[in-house]
Amino acid sequence: MSVSSNLLQIRNTLPADVTLIAISKTHPTELIVEAYNEGQRDFGENKVQELSEKFDKLPKDINWHFIGHLQSNKVKYLAPYVHLIHGIDSFKLLEIINKEAIKNNRLINCFLQVHIAKEESKFGFSETELLNMLESELWMQLTNIQICGLMGMATFTENQILIKEEFTFLTDLFKKIKKTYFADFEYFKEISMGMSDDYLLAIECGSTMVRIGSSIFGHRVYSK
Ligand SMILES: *Cc1c(COP(=O)(O)O)cnc(C)c1O
Repeated sequence: MSVSSNLLQIRNTLPADVTLIAISKTHPTELIVEAYNEGQRDFGENKVQELSEKFDKLPKDINWHFIGHLQSNKVKYLAPYVHLIHGIDSFKLLEIINKEAIKNNRLINCFLQVHIAKEESKFGFSETELLNMLESELWMQLTNIQICGLMGMATFTENQILIKEEFTFLTDLFKKIKKTYFADFEYFKEISMGMSDDYLLAIECGSTMVRIGSSIFGHRVYSK
């Protein structure tokens, strides 16, 4: 199977209002170009260094999504061009992104990551942490960021019932937050959830943005 045929096949399964982000981490730019030539413009990476190198080499109308855990000292490298940062899990990180966005005279789109999995290893706000942060209203003073929605990763498991519960939890939390804090913010409208193995279930549960890597580009080989 080729990248283009994988991509077309996945697109056929997506409702028109769901955005597909092609997760290209570890894959060479040649494969990204193949997807680009099929009209794909949203790509996601999880390492700052790798993303910077790919940004330099590839067409400038790509929307680059940062989907990894972002260290505060690396925000400055992404700020000039990143389209959307998915993995934000502290107010401090939001503040730093805002500061770098101001330096670059840009508005940076952000997702707040919520810890929905039953595993310890996944990052993100707990529901309580998230509500406390929003309740403080300090985020409203951050002029150069735009909180566009929530992001979550389900437990790595075969248990479809558990995954469905976690996705539904995120959608319910989104609706609650939308009503309480973002009713006047039209751009707060996205739920980023669903990967190669669970994206159809995620869409059923309300996802508006799916992050798909291996089903498009094949398995990842980690050399380091
Ligand atoms: C790697 C990654 C994906 C894509 O995973 P696949 O199973 O290859 O589709 C999605 N989201 C995040 C946060 C990732 O790190």
